[in-house]
Amino acid sequence: MIAPAFLALVALQQAPQVTAIRAGTLIDGTGGAPVKNAIILVQGGRITAVGASVPVPNGATVIDLSGATVLPGFIDAHVHLAGRTIGDGDWQHSILTEMPSQLALLGAAHAQQTLEAGFTTVRVLGTAHFGDIALRNAINAGWIPGPRIVGAGISFGIRGGHCDETNGLRPDALGHEAGVEYGVADGVEEVRNAVRYGVKYGADVIKICATGGVLSLTDSVGVQQYTEEEMRAIVEAAAQLDRRVAAHAHGTAGIKAAVRAGVASIEHGSILDAEAVALMKQRGTWLVPTLLAGFTVESLATAGRLPPPIAAKALAIAPRQHTSFKLAVDGGVRIALGTDAGVMRHGTNGREFGLMVKYGMTPMQAIVAGTSSGATLLGLEREIGTIAVGKQADLVAVRGDPLQGIAQLEHVDFVMKGGTVFKRDGQVVGRSAAGLP
Ligand SMILES: [Zn+2]
Repeated sequence: MIAPAFLALVALQQAPQVTAIRAGTLIDGTGGAPVKNAIILVQGGRITAVGASVPVPNGATVIDLSGATVLPGFIDAHVHLAGRTIGDGDWQHSILTEMPSQLALLGAAHAQQTLEAGFTTVRVLGTAHFGDIALRNAINAGWIPGPRIVGAGISFGIRGGHCDETNGLRPDALGHEAGVEYGVADGVEEVRNAVRYGVKYGADVIKICATGGVLSLTDSVGVQQYTEEEMRAIVEAAAQLDRRVAAHAHGTAGIKAAVRAGVASIEHGSILDAEAVALMKQRGTWLVPTLLAGFTVESLATAGRLPPPIAAKALAIAPRQHTSFKLAVDGGVRIALGTDAGVMRHGTNGREFGLMVKYGMTPMQAIVAGTSSGATLLGLEREIGTIAVGKQADLVAVRGDPLQGIAQLEHVDFVMKGGTVFKRDGQVVGRSAAGLP
């Protein structure tokens, strides 16, 4: 017979360690009023208690953030990790000149920068050769540090459109005309197959180009590219596989067609009108405004660092983004924070909060957009997005009061993801290869 004391000891050893976090101020991501001097208990990677009157259990590991504001880990609903940042190296042709493995390794560095900035979850909307799916799997396996990833794998659109990776190349550059693996799918049959191709190789979400774009050489930024019929087929094929659709869309007609077709989110949404806003509100369509991408391309264009056709588009679209964003905020459209990181430098995602406030949100609205709203758009609202019992312990801390100075969110001192501390006192915490066999 085994002694009861021994069994009790085994139970004690097996119960996961409790971590108690003392938060000077807690902003929980729901939009509710901040709570002073809160305690958050974490066990087994999840939040087990939160509130001002929660007692700290004996033996708990205490993390003292009593001089800081604690928030849910931030969520960026639009990034590109596994590729060159605009202006870095041969960024326009890197998917043809650099090995997919090299771009995936670069993505690992970008993923770490993103996590250090307090973004514990990202949605990656389009990556050559499924580099984001490789990253997602490597992070989930504990091989490398990085945010949780909801990945699209490839993105696709019409031949010669914004998602066509071979724009600007001569016709025989690949040795064959580009197909879905380079982001091209035309017509109802091909787009259905493109959805299935993406999901087959690991896509969590489907990314399409509904209109032209800024950073592609040969297309006009505002024009609609997919027909509404094609987009309906995409949404239907995606729904059958339990996937949502994110539509890159700048111009008004393409935005409306994508919304009517049933996409989950409009990315950029640069040229909205009252009808588009009303339609989005009615359908519950999300806007991911990517103000930081607009700011970045406008700055690069002004500095003469973009090819002339791209610079002209950038200068035309950025001011329109600001008025459209305000229209959407005032019209009650659901908005999730997204930056299009990869256009700007990774790890500077937090600047989006400030732009959202500059162009029409309250600081609390911007925080909600970058936490609980992002979680809902990603379909992860039960797991992340707020500091609540049962959720993953994804927590960040900043100095001072972000409701008084939103730029505080650009300087994250503490990062915990799923109960594991990745950054403390502004320093990256040394890590072992604990996730490796
Ligand atoms: Zn993008």
